[in-house]
Amino acid sequence: RQALGSLGKSRAKFISAEERTGVTFDDFAGQEYIKKELQEIVRILKNDEEFQDKGIYCPKGVLLHGPPGTGKTLLAKAIAGEAGLPFFAANGTDFVEMFVGVAASRVKDLFASARSYAPSIIFIDEIDAIGSKRGGPDIGGGGAEREQGLLQILTEMDGFKVSTAQVLVIGATNRLDILDPALLRKGRFDKIIRVGLPSKDGRFAILKVHARNKFFRSEEEKDTLLKEIAEHTEDFTGAELQNILNEAGILTARKDLDYIGRDDLLEALKRQKGTFETGQEDSTEIPEELKLRLAYREAAVAVLACYFPEPHRPFVETDINSIRSQPNMRYTEISGQVFARKSDYINSIVRACAPRVIEEQMFGVDNLCWISSKATLDASRRAEFLILQTGMTAFGKAYYKSQSDLVPNLAMKVEALRDEYMRYATEKCSSVLKEYHSAVETITDILLEKGKIKAEEIWDIYKSCPLVTVPPVSP
Ligand code: ADP
Repeated sequence: RQALGSLGKSRAKFISAEERTGVTFDDFAGQEYIKKELQEIVRILKNDEEFQDKGIYCPKGVLLHGPPGTGKTLLAKAIAGEAGLPFFAANGTDFVEMFVGVAASRVKDLFASARSYAPSIIFIDEIDAIGSKRGGPDIGGGGAEREQGLLQILTEMDGFKVSTAQVLVIGATNRLDILDPALLRKGRFDKIIRVGLPSKDGRFAILKVHARNKFFRSEEEKDTLLKEIAEHTEDFTGAELQNILNEAGILTARKDLDYIGRDDLLEALKRQKGTFETGQEDSTEIPEELKLRLAYREAAVAVLACYFPEPHRPFVETDINSIRSQPNMRYTEISGQVFARKSDYINSIVRACAPRVIEEQMFGVDNLCWISSKATLDASRRAEFLILQTGMTAFGKAYYKSQSDLVPNLAMKVEALRDEYMRYATEKCSSVLKEYHSAVETITDILLEKGKIKAEEIWDIYKSCPLVTVPPVSP
């Protein structure tokens, strides 16, 4: 094993190398079961020989998948930190260049560097950039190049024996669905762990981690405030929660205060909410027309939420106080395991169409604006998910994954089916909004006047709404 002195100055610029990451599992909060699984791996890494005598080997590859900012990189570093091993990191996008042969040779470089310091850890972030399905649509070009890189990863992983002095490869992606199945076979990334969005308790735990180096008036006040923030940050990632505390710290310092108080935390929360999608800050002076559009959008979403209630997640309230590209409607959290039926999936596609459909009805197809632009995308993603991932359509998951080369023009067929779902969803949504038009108007008026409206009030308006007769929509 070489001395580690030169590690930081890796020969290849695209590899970042750390002798000691200094990160531990204490730095990652929430989703305790993930840590438990990874702790097991660390134990095997540290006591290689003892485990081998018992016939237990460390997996060659661990794949972490989930949305950006949920702590995948942090976990990879924690594995290295806990096991006391050097850490070599690269990004999948670094491998793919226009020049032929670069991807494969960069993969070789990465593995060679890691191997010369073995036992060690390799981390490949955004592995989908190089490891997406072969023979699929070549978005962005460089297909052949990428394929060479992917083959090289497979060769490298197959090449090293499971023995002492091994290299553990950790991959991260938020697109598990597009990864080449060859990567997921036994002896490659055979441990797949989902890193999801944190629950309310998880968010509290994450906030506590990032509050370790911050000042509060007292421990009790800190807990109360952080619990309050955890309540209001559904769908936030760990990275966004960390931002809230950092921002609060800055606001406090700007005012020359010693402790983070409730006002600063709420202000930081508001900023994070306002900026995390649109880059626009909340503003008390939302232009009148935008306000009207927001109100219609929220009213339409509310009416659809009554028409097709989400069985696992009732809605709570909505408002027009912030401008986001997604609806402001808030829902209760999903609790425990839920099972969704095909009709639930289809209804969710119909619901997702509401912002776009109402904007078209009220302002005309040539007058759409960005506040409904995410809706269509969201709806078509839902349709694709139903088609490809649930096994509830002609293109069930198993069928699609294992036999994709046996189905000619698969992409075209999937697209055709998706368009069919989208047509139905748009028409159905449009007919519901026409039928309940008076409820849409009433909710819009209340939103314009008061800024927000709660679930009970919405239900009352919906139930007592005089209906307009519309022709049925054929499925
Ligand atoms: P990813 O690799 O999934 O995109 P990162 O690991 O880069 O996410 O997360 C960015 C930062 O967000 C981390 O360095 C950490 O400070 C914070 N973070 C994210 N998730 C968590 C978590 N579960 N616990 C503590 N901090 C977290």
